Amino acid sequence: NQGIGSWPARRARKTPHRTALVHGGHRHSYADLHERSTRLAHALRTAGIRRGDRIAYLGPNHPSFLETLFAAGLLGALFVPLNTRLALPEIAHQLDDCGARALIHAPGCAPLVPSGAVPVTVRTGEEYESWLAGADRTPIDEPVGLDDTCLIMYTSGTTGRPKGAMLTHGNLTWNAYNVLVDTDLLADDVALVSAPLFHTGGLNMLTLPVLLKGGACLLTESFDPAGALELIARERISYMFGVPTMYDLMARQDGWADADLRSLRILNCGGAPVPRPLIDTYLRRGLSFQQGYGMTEAGPGVLFLDAEHTAGKAGSAGVPHFFTDVLLTTADGREAGLGEVGEVLVSGPNVGPGYWGLPEATGLAFHGEWFRSGDAARADADGYLTIADRIKDMYISGGENVYPAEVEEALLALPGVAECAVYGVPDPKWGEVGRAVVVPAAGAAVDPDALLAALAGVLAKYKLPRTVLLADELPRTASGKILKHRLRARHDG
Ligand code: ATP
Ligand code: MG
Repeated sequence: NQGIGSWPARRARKTPHRTALVHGGHRHSYADLHERSTRLAHALRTAGIRRGDRIAYLGPNHPSFLETLFAAGLLGALFVPLNTRLALPEIAHQLDDCGARALIHAPGCAPLVPSGAVPVTVRTGEEYESWLAGADRTPIDEPVGLDDTCLIMYTSGTTGRPKGAMLTHGNLTWNAYNVLVDTDLLADDVALVSAPLFHTGGLNMLTLPVLLKGGACLLTESFDPAGALELIARERISYMFGVPTMYDLMARQDGWADADLRSLRILNCGGAPVPRPLIDTYLRRGLSFQQGYGMTEAGPGVLFLDAEHTAGKAGSAGVPHFFTDVLLTTADGREAGLGEVGEVLVSGPNVGPGYWGLPEATGLAFHGEWFRSGDAARADADGYLTIADRIKDMYISGGENVYPAEVEEALLALPGVAECAVYGVPDPKWGEVGRAVVVPAAGAAVDPDALLAALAGVLAKYKLPRTVLLADELPRTASGKILKHRLRARHDG
């Protein structure tokens, strides 16, 4: 078995007594992780699960999540993590879409489990433990190679219904190599895993590379900014991964100024550009961010900005990971010139084979060596890329391309604006014009005309939204990304 299911056994051969996982005050060594994953694989096999079957998991961060991933890998079965923030019909759809044969879920998630949808259903806790206790612990002999599919991970569903991105054992392995080559992750590192494991960031950028290297992962069920500051000091956390919001919340805690952060070595931030003020707040504590850009289909790491360049290249998402290549192409298929915006195409051993059960969508996005990300970016003279926006969200006003992300950034910098979203609407004269939907900050009196006047000082005329609407909230995906198609339907439908 060359797949990731073999990692616990391989680590147990080298460092059996070192801590792999910490959860709820318990430490699990690599030997424990190996034994429990093997027992679970036997229990699943006894329940009729075979090579190629889909095993779903629904629950917050917990050792059983990783045991299920590794057990599936030992059997050559496919692991399907589900997002606990989805609603029951969405979970029912994903279970049906992947044809799950087994589901392991947290007791607290029982209300999200459609009854009778999956033949083998096991609750973590007592039921799961007695399952493991009754299972064999002899090695599992299934041959699994790097080209076998390991994971079906659903995309966030920002541009439409989530798609099941397939990733092979090789994709996950090479993604982890990219992280290990490009960061200074060490076997002595203790990582705080409070980003959800069911998302590609928490699992593939953080947890799997740490476990491959032999470090320790401290799992928390959710992100609590005050609790995170305490954990960092108490558990000597050296490695963190999160989205900008998490870091921002931490820095806003009362305990921030006095927090003992001396153990922190690596702060990884992905999913969105890190705003300059946040970079500066952490620099004042002697900490700089590593940043990343990627997508579920690519394992996900594509671009990486190391800590040294955080300030100098602020706003950029960095250069491609070591084993990964990126090409920017224009709408007419040329390679984009210096500073010219083009679509990000990705190639490398981390890019998956396609979408589960969606040959048409797969054909549109996966072209031989290259995966079409649907994101627009431009490169500077040093080869550093800056993400402009999603191509789908871009609109053309009077012949000029407008990237809503840029307009949103300018709006967010204005006082009284808590959240905002910008999109294009048809216009007889200009083709399209921008429309902004703004959520005012609590207690702030926001005047749309005053916002427009303020924007006029910082943005080119063609980028200025024609209208600004006020709203109480913005429709978001379960992972917090703004759903522009739903916003359109709400305000223009
Ligand atoms: P769906 O594909 O279902 O519409 P999604 O693309 O939001 O949803 P993910 O794979 O979770 O699903 O997110 C990847 C996307 O997130 C990228 O294509 C890009 O648009 C955005 N993204 C990721 N990292 C960054 C970053 N550092 N800066 C800007 N955008 C980013
Ligand atoms: Mg996507």
